[in-house]
Amino acid sequence: MPSPSLDPALAARLGELSDLRHAGHVLAWDQQVMMPAAGGRARGEALGTIRRLHHELLVDAQLGTLLDAAADAEPRIVRTVRRDHEIERRVPGELAAEISRAGSDGYAAWLAAREANDFAVFEPALRRNIDLARRYAGCFPEAAHPYDVLLDRYEPGATAAQVATLFVALRDGLVPLISEIAMQPARQALPGDFPVAAQREIGLEMVQSMGFDRTGWRLDDAVHPFAVAPALRDVRVTSRFDDHSLTGLFALLHEVGHGLYEHGVDPALARTTLDTGVSLGVHESQSRLWENLVGRSPAFWTHWLPRLRDRFPLSLRDIDLDAFMRAINVVRPTLIRVEADEVTYSLHVILRFELELGLIDGTLDVIDLPAAWAAKMKQFLGVDVPDDLHGVLQDIHWSEGIIGYFPTYAIGNVLAAQLWQVAQAEIEGLDDALSRGEVGALRVWLREKVHRHGRLYTPAELIEQAVGGPLDPAPMLAHLRAKYGALYGL
Ligand code: ZN
Repeated sequence: MPSPSLDPALAARLGELSDLRHAGHVLAWDQQVMMPAAGGRARGEALGTIRRLHHELLVDAQLGTLLDAAADAEPRIVRTVRRDHEIERRVPGELAAEISRAGSDGYAAWLAAREANDFAVFEPALRRNIDLARRYAGCFPEAAHPYDVLLDRYEPGATAAQVATLFVALRDGLVPLISEIAMQPARQALPGDFPVAAQREIGLEMVQSMGFDRTGWRLDDAVHPFAVAPALRDVRVTSRFDDHSLTGLFALLHEVGHGLYEHGVDPALARTTLDTGVSLGVHESQSRLWENLVGRSPAFWTHWLPRLRDRFPLSLRDIDLDAFMRAINVVRPTLIRVEADEVTYSLHVILRFELELGLIDGTLDVIDLPAAWAAKMKQFLGVDVPDDLHGVLQDIHWSEGIIGYFPTYAIGNVLAAQLWQVAQAEIEGLDDALSRGEVGALRVWLREKVHRHGRLYTPAELIEQAVGGPLDPAPMLAHLRAKYGALYGL
């Protein structure tokens, strides 16, 4: 653990970097939750200035000198910040600026292409983003594969080769399970009316039991739910509720899972830049654990279904726990990633990873992307892609030059199941506690294993300590086969 005696000059530098990140988070949160639409242009400039100042502080040679001097006293903090410092210094400012401009242009082209439902409108902008991603990777010639460099921005230390091996095993387990489920009669999600105001009330009760409290957290509405934590005691989650489904409750559990991670970092790491999640994959493991492993389990709903029925007596009058479990765990191969269920979701991610890899190593040309997309959707999920809007134009990421990010979603699913397996073994009576509405023991366990460490360890070190080995798809595949085998009578 860091001592309070971190060199004062270094502590001041790290504090400034943390404060700029804090400001950026508040501006970005405000943009999506509060800001009138016409403020967008000025907000873009303000965020650009914050990012530039952050970059200048991080690449400053003086920071390198301070890190050298502190290396013996605070090896873990120094190791992490030095890595950030050295990566940032490798990329010429001119290239970083070009990438940023291409991201804004790409976003505009993507919107226009979606409007026209025509990939050809987006194709030149995507080609530029791919070229720039390759140039960015070229700043790190020692990497075994250019994709490793892109992935490292979101999942530090992970490599394309590791991810490819993991994903082949995952795909080979998921595809047959999904085709077995697809042969069963189709199931329906819950029909009925679930007025938003009542969903919000019971949602708050649920997340208050998880640790959400009004002194350190906020809940707001956003079109695309997200979570952000400007500081350990300032956690902001968003959700989007809908009168005709309960998906907003699951989105809320997901985002509060992200929030608990940020909230659970050891306060001794505050303003060191290590007071946040270590990688996007580890972050997603926290949200998925609460959303799926807890939030779609019979134990959790043993406690909450009667309370939900009190809120929605007409819609849930005839729904017992078994029927409710079937309705909230419908598996159906679909076209859109963000609407995918627990079983099919990771295949949407694996598809994107394989396509990104081809685009970056040059074996797939941008012009052939829609056809490659359609072929993989057929192969993985057995569905036909009717148009670009329901295919290659659905996600925002590539438009903004965000390449190498998608794998972290499936890494999160895999790690969530590994953590869940260990939690079941180490927390006595976990299911009984969940069925009484008590999640405190699980929250404390996750804090101990994952949250409190912030960025002190590498993702690989943290995972090894938490689950006793590297990423492994077996617990996830076993969980899905057991759960859905029973639900679908396979
Ligand atoms: Zn998430």
